[in-house]
Amino acid sequence: MVFQLSPKEAKFLKLVQTKTDGKLEIKKNLSLGAYSTYQTGGRARIAVFPKNIDQALILFKLIRDLDLEFTVIGGGSNILISDRGINGITVMLTGLAAFEIKGQLLGVEAGFSSHKLAHLALEQGLSGLEFLTQLPGSIGGAIYMNARAFGGEISKVIHSALVVDSSGSQLEYRNQPGDFSYKRSPFKLKDQIILKAYFKLITEGKSKIREEMDRIQQTRLAKQERKYPSCGCVFKNRRDLGKPAGKIIDEAGLKSLHTENARVYESHANFIVHNGRADSQEIRNLMELVKTKVRQLEGIELEYEVEFVGDWSEYQ
Ligand SMILES: Cc1cc2nc3c(=O)[nH]c(=O)nc-3n(C[C@H](O)[C@H](O)[C@H](O)COP(=O)(O)OP(=O)(O)OC[C@H]3O[C@@H](n4cnc5c(N)ncnc54)[C@H](O)[C@@H]3O)c2cc1C
Repeated sequence: MVFQLSPKEAKFLKLVQTKTDGKLEIKKNLSLGAYSTYQTGGRARIAVFPKNIDQALILFKLIRDLDLEFTVIGGGSNILISDRGINGITVMLTGLAAFEIKGQLLGVEAGFSSHKLAHLALEQGLSGLEFLTQLPGSIGGAIYMNARAFGGEISKVIHSALVVDSSGSQLEYRNQPGDFSYKRSPFKLKDQIILKAYFKLITEGKSKIREEMDRIQQTRLAKQERKYPSCGCVFKNRRDLGKPAGKIIDEAGLKSLHTENARVYESHANFIVHNGRADSQEIRNLMELVKTKVRQLEGIELEYEVEFVGDWSEYQ
């Protein structure tokens, strides 16, 4: 199939190259299998890889000015990418990975690995980010999703952030009580992109921090969470459900549910894993089946935590 740019896409590419002195990495018709932990999905028409905040600001301003469709991907650990791929511009943020330390404030760009950030804080004797140990993905994605684990949560430690708003302008955000809630960040609600964030941490002995990180690491490894491709929890563990979504799925007798290549994970019923040969549609089919069966058997409407990226128009 011949790949043809729309006039708007061609204009975007020309302008973005001029404004970044030709330094922005751009890939056309990029196969996306390597960009999510599910390792599935089609192609991105145009993928861009900013390497610093200046490039990212130029990029998002142009995207907004030209009113182009766009998708942001961090570590790809909470998404399922459509087999039909992603239209418009796909912005890959893992190249934004600089950091700075100002006393108890740790500043980090959005593409920085969450797991590595826990280790960076440890090296500085700063406590508060231990819960990010072995959490897949980037810190930008963790902030956007208000990631939580082992009693820790992004909302409890984030101090401020540099974001791009819906007009393409940069904005400074200061954390206010009530801005975050379960799996919700103000950025998700306002369609903002996080470029950098500061975390307010506490000075602590390294051995104490390391002990907690080791405990988390052991627990995660014991659960074999990363043995098969997955997106972590498929459904939200909403408090009003009274119990975790995995328990509901398990109690409904759905742990053995599977398709040819995908299955409800025997170690954790809220994970749907596959054997490396499923495509996104097969995984989505199984997700929908679990959702329908839980509704029929338990009268409970599960809500997706996973974000569906790309063209899933048949489900809207
Ligand atoms: C094995 C496994 C275990 C997991 N365990 C946990 C857990 O214990 N707790 C938990 O909370 N999650 C867990 N997850 C889910 C996931 O790791 C987290 O939500 C993670 O923080 C997502 O980050 P990411 O960079 O991979 O985001 P992505 O998957 O790349 O993106 C997720 C969403 O965030 C948006 N996004 C990404 N970066 C930005 C940005 N800079 N600005 C604005 N929007 C952005 C994307 O557009 C998308 O909508 C797990 C996943 C796996 C695979």
